Amino acid sequence: MLLKRLGIIGFGASAIGYLKGLIDSGRIEQYRVTVLERGKDQMHNTISGVRMDGKIFISRGMGGEIDVPLDVQAKMVEFYLLHSDFKPTLKNEGNFIEYLRSFERDGRKVEFGESFADEEVYRRFYHQGFEPVKAYFFHLGTDILRQTNQSIYEYFSSFENVEFRFSSKVVDVEIGTPFKVVTEKGEEIHFDELVVAVGRSGHELMDRLKKKYPQLVTENFYVDIGVRYELPNHVMENYWDMYEIKVRYKTRTGYLCRLFCQNPAGKVTLEKYEDFTTVNGFSDSYNKTENTNFAVLVTTRFTEPFKDPTGYGKNLAKLANILAGDDRKVLLQTYGDFKEYRRTKRLGRVRPTLDSANYILGDANLVFPAKIRESIIDFVENLDKVVPGVAYQDNLIYAVEVKFYSNKFNNNLVRNLHVVGDCSGWTRSIQYATSMGYMYAISSGGRVVV
Ligand SMILES: Cc1cc2nc3c(=O)[nH]c(=O)nc-3n(C[C@H](O)[C@H](O)[C@H](O)COP(=O)(O)OP(=O)(O)OC[C@H]3O[C@@H](n4cnc5c(N)ncnc54)[C@H](O)[C@@H]3O)c2cc1C
Repeated sequence: MLLKRLGIIGFGASAIGYLKGLIDSGRIEQYRVTVLERGKDQMHNTISGVRMDGKIFISRGMGGEIDVPLDVQAKMVEFYLLHSDFKPTLKNEGNFIEYLRSFERDGRKVEFGESFADEEVYRRFYHQGFEPVKAYFFHLGTDILRQTNQSIYEYFSSFENVEFRFSSKVVDVEIGTPFKVVTEKGEEIHFDELVVAVGRSGHELMDRLKKKYPQLVTENFYVDIGVRYELPNHVMENYWDMYEIKVRYKTRTGYLCRLFCQNPAGKVTLEKYEDFTTVNGFSDSYNKTENTNFAVLVTTRFTEPFKDPTGYGKNLAKLANILAGDDRKVLLQTYGDFKEYRRTKRLGRVRPTLDSANYILGDANLVFPAKIRESIIDFVENLDKVVPGVAYQDNLIYAVEVKFYSNKFNNNLVRNLHVVGDCSGWTRSIQYATSMGYMYAISSGGRVVV
């Protein structure tokens, strides 16, 4: 049988899901698969959450705007756990949460949390105006993810018809029969089917595609802007059984603000883009710190004629870098100083987990527009009523944290072209990106050609 040529651009979460879907459905036998990844090897798939933190959740209420059945989500968690050397200690007899919670490694259970399982806690947050989001969390940890990545890579490489080409940055795609893919080195490769799975870091390629084929994307009007918040573990400890306090809150400015990416006993880190730097957070499975961090993000929506929310977010991040005197540094301020419009000159009891070479003590009020600043403060003050200590004066804020939304890609227009994961605009998490890849792989075909 003549095998169809399938190209997958990028080797991150969604590509992993796609390959797994091809294998699980048996469709892998129809293809000769070539994965083109710009990283220099399987350990260098860039800015992927599959290298950092590895918090994989099961939830209907967050992580993407596609509907992913819970059993598919559970299958993705199981896949990552098995490839991280965790082994189940219970049989999978229908209750998939109990089964996944039973996974152990080195005699230790996988880190697990369930947000708002306790009805009393749910109500406490609800009555304070928060919208609690229910989810189950499984945390692998940055220290384990190297092995996870390696094991997944070895598994896919064991298929004779799957080939990986690293150091292959794709710079252009030509839609046609066949599809033409051009790499930075000038190579031209032809495929019968093409999967674009380049994540957020692949925005250059996505911008090119959008310019060439504007009919395939819809406009995006959103960007999430805010800070990374850091405080002592003991303030949050009562809620650690949830792992993450997943809440949204409509602030007095009318903007929606949310708590995102909580890292108990974790570390704050930089997220470096080509020409600016933002903040992020993670935690290890073994090396714990005395602080918890999370993002406080304000969803900012624009309307016509303004069409560049990404540029808006980038420029605020750049402004923080300019004030920090270096495009590889961010601003650090105590919450109390932020509230009182004072530049921070001295820190209090909370010791930053970000290396001091990466920040300048400053004033984030010189960065944020009033509506964003007010929303952050309203959120923190309100959260303090449910979690006392969140608004301590010497808690820390790092500026700026930004989450960009990609334009949404219409996957129904071109037969045999699948844009999956975060670059499609439909997902923003390991779970949803992997699941989207998986679901497209098991049910691909039957699309209309324009
Ligand atoms: C620091 C950090 C921590 C995170 N932690 C979590 C977490 O704990 N839990 C969670 O759910 N989500 C987390 N996320 C988000 C999560 O990583 C993403 O939502 C998810 O990885 C998206 O999967 P993807 O396949 O769309 O993209 P990615 O996983 O980012 O994969 C895209 C791949 O494409 C490659 N690529 C890009 N451009 C090109 C090109 N032109 N040519 C060839 N290859 C290219 C990249 O090198 C990359 O390997 C985190 C993100 C970051 C930045």
